[in-house]
Amino acid sequence: MKQQPLVTIRDVRKCYGEIEVLKGIDLDVMHGEVLCLIGPSGSGKSTLLRCVNVLEQIDGGYIQVENEFAGATVKNGELHEPSEAEIARYRQRIGMVFQHFNLFSHLTALENVAIGLVKVRGFARSEAVARARASLSDVGLAHLENSYPRHLSGGQQQRVAIARALAMEPRLMLFDEPTSALDPELVGEVLSVMRRVAERGMTMIVVTHEMRFARDVADRVAFMDQGRIAEIDDAKKLIDSPTSERTKNFLNHVK
Ligand code: ADP
Ligand code: MG
Repeated sequence: MKQQPLVTIRDVRKCYGEIEVLKGIDLDVMHGEVLCLIGPSGSGKSTLLRCVNVLEQIDGGYIQVENEFAGATVKNGELHEPSEAEIARYRQRIGMVFQHFNLFSHLTALENVAIGLVKVRGFARSEAVARARASLSDVGLAHLENSYPRHLSGGQQQRVAIARALAMEPRLMLFDEPTSALDPELVGEVLSVMRRVAERGMTMIVVTHEMRFARDVADRVAFMDQGRIAEIDDAKKLIDSPTSERTKNFLNHVK
C-alpha cells in the first residue's frame, strides 16, 4: 500500500429532501488500501458508495479519484461542471459490486462479462471474449462460462459480477454488502475471491457485516453512524478494541 490517496473525500454532504444522510464525510483511501465500512442500517454506507460512483449527486464537498472529480468543482474561483465525457471517464475507473448481483438474466456468464468490454471499453468481440474468459477463470468459473444466471448458485452469480467488474480494469472496487443476500454456506467462496483481489493490490471500499473479513483483510475499518464516520482506525485495532461506545455497542450486536 502506498501512502498516497487514490480517493479523496472532503466534507461530502448528501440530502434526500430535507434529510441530510451524509453530514460531512472526510476520508482518504490510499493506493492499494482495503477499507471496510461498517455501521448500522441507515447510517449512509450505501449512499456514500453511490456518491463515489456518481450514482448519486452530492450536495456539498467533493470526491476525487486520482485527478478526476465526481461532480462540480471550483477551479480558480470558477465553478466547473464536469461534462458527460468527464463523468464517463471518472466512472470507468470504478468497479462496483452490489448485494443483488444485477446480472443480465438473458445472457450467459461469459456474455455478462464481455458485454461491457464491447459497449463501454470498445474492444472487438474476439478481444472482449478473450478478456472475459480470463476474468471468469480468475474467479474460478471458467467451466461455467455458458451457464445462465438462473443455473448458477448465488455465490457463483456474485463471482460473475466480480469478474465483470474486474474485467473493466478499474482502479477502485466498491462492494456494497456483497455477501448479505447469500446463503451462509456460499459466503466463503465470495469472500475468498475478494481476499485474492485485495492481495493483488486492488484499492477497495467494502461495506460488510463480515467482521472476520474486515479484521483479517482490511487495512482500516471505518464505523459509520447517522451520516458520519464516528470512528476510523487500523482494522484489528478498531474491531478488537474500539474506543467509542457506539462502535462497541454495534460490534457487540454483529460479532
Ligand atoms: P446504509 O447503507 O448504511 O443502510 P443508506 O445509505 O442506504 O444506509 O441510507 C441512509 C439513509 O438515507 C436512510 O435513512 C435511508 O432511508 C435514506 N435513503 C437512502 N436512499 C434514499 C432515497 N433514494 N430517497 C430517500 N431516502 C433515501
Ligand atoms: Mg446499504
